[in-house]
Parts: sequence; structure tokens; C-alpha cells
Amino acid sequence: MLTFTNRTAVVTGAGRGIGKAIAETLARNGVTVICVSKSADSCGATAAAITAAGGKAKARAVDVADGAAVAQAAAELLGEFPTIDILVNNAGITRDGLLFRMSDADWNDVLTTNLTSCFHWTKHLARPMTRARWGRIVNITSVSGIMGNAGQANYSAAKAGMIGLTKSLAREFASRSVTVNAVAPGFIKTDMTTDFVNKPEASAKILEVVPLKRFGEASDVATLTAYLCSDQAGYVTGQVFNIDGGMAM
Ligand code: NAP
Repeated sequence: MLTFTNRTAVVTGAGRGIGKAIAETLARNGVTVICVSKSADSCGATAAAITAAGGKAKARAVDVADGAAVAQAAAELLGEFPTIDILVNNAGITRDGLLFRMSDADWNDVLTTNLTSCFHWTKHLARPMTRARWGRIVNITSVSGIMGNAGQANYSAAKAGMIGLTKSLAREFASRSVTVNAVAPGFIKTDMTTDFVNKPEASAKILEVVPLKRFGEASDVATLTAYLCSDQAGYVTGQVFNIDGGMAM
């Protein structure tokens, strides 16, 4: 059984999909969860669902691509909660296209939302963790950051960048017992993947390269992430955990 001793977590992208499942899983284990998403409705709905189920949650709409907004939100949350012990950088977007057709905006939006956001949140929330000599940071990357993917140069670069960031910060924070790990999902059924998961031809093509021959569930990713945030995961840092049905062996 996993334990979480009076912990508070920030989960970005908690309004839908994988982030929502992570927020709900942590809350079921007694963690107070600050649910962050771009729209207030989306994180508000997750926080309300957690509260209705007997958990503790707060919603906070923040555009994670906006460094100043992240700095302000982090400062306010650190003033409001005695500690923030867990950070899950999960918010992400795709803007797919082959390189010659990829606009500067599509490159920059994907890098800023997926990668630079992790730099900003970690910079603001990790310092108190290092002072407290306890912390858990989990970055939700992707198999695209490990294998690459035609049509996703921006996304793969951002997700690979998250892996480099994870490993560097794991080394920086290790002496303070703050662990930093990455989780790399394959194809998980969420809004991000509905376009092809629900199209028989496209999904059959994808499943050819997935040894387990099915798409993953958000709860699969949430269970692994919760372990990495738990008291029990204190000797695990700097690692990348694929959760992809065996795709990137
Ligand atoms: P999703 O269903 O599209 O949900 C994305 C969440 O991120 C939403 O809550 C969204 O907020 C939030 N978000 C996006 N841009 C934001 C911004 N600028 N500021 C704040 N929040 C923002 O995505 P998902 O499939 O759950 O993916 C979650 C993470 O897993 C992403 O990092 C993704 O790259 C990664 N991943 C997913 C898969 C997959 O197969 N699904 C595979 C590998 C990796 P709103 O609700 O307000 O829109």
C-alpha cells in the first residue's frame, strides 16, 4: 500500500485525460491536490469531482505557457499552503505537421507549453522542497521524445527536452531527497488521441506497433505516477518509465 504523509500536490493539465486521472488518484490516497488547467471550467470540474468524492482539492486556472502567470500562481499557492511537496508537470499540447509546413507558432507553442512550463513550475516550487528535504517531481513526457515521430518534430523535441531536464534536476536535487522522474506514455485514450483512437483504420495501424495490441487508459499512467509521488519511491530518481504497451522496448 502506498503512503503519502500529509502531502500537497500541484498537477498541471488536471482538467482532462491523464492529468485528471493523476489528480483523482492522488486525492484518493489522501493528497491535497491543486488542479491546474488552462480553463477554469476544466480544472474546476476535476476539483469539484474530487471534493464530491470526499477528497481535498483546489482549482487554479493558469496558462502554463506564460512564465509570469506561473510565477504568480506559484507564489500565491506557496502563501496559501504550508507545503507543496509534489509537482506533476503534465499539461501538454500537440500541433502536428511535417517540418516544411510547421509554422514558428506551432514550434514555439509546443515547446513553451510542454517544456518551458516545466522549467518555470519547477523553478518556483522546488526550492521549498529542497529546504524541506523532501519532494517529488514527475514530468509526463512521451514515447515520441524517446523514439521520435514523423510529423511531431516540435512535440518530440519538447518531450526529449523534458527527459534531459528530468535527469539534470534529479542530479541537482538528489542531496536534498527531492526526486525527479519522467513517465513516457504511448497511446493513451484521451481527448488528445480521439482523432485516431476512434478511427478503425488509423487505430489498427497504430496497434501494429503496440505489442499489447490495445490503447492505454489514463488510469494506467496515473497509477505509475502515484507510485513515483509516494513515500515508498524515495530511492527512485532520474528515471524514465515507459508506459506504452511495449512499443518502445
Ligand atoms: P488532454 O486530454 O488533451 O488534456 C490536456 C490538459 O492539459 C488539459 O487539462 C488542458 O487544459 C491542459 N493544458 C493544455 N495547455 C495548457 C496550458 N497552456 N496551460 C494550462 N493547461 C494546459 O491531454 P492528455 O492526453 O491527457 O495528455 C496529458 C499529457 O500526457 C500531455 O503532456 C501529453 O503530451 C502527454 N502524453 C499523452 C499521450 C496520450 O496518448 N494521450 C501520450 C504520451 C504523452 P484545459 O482542460 O483547460 O484545456
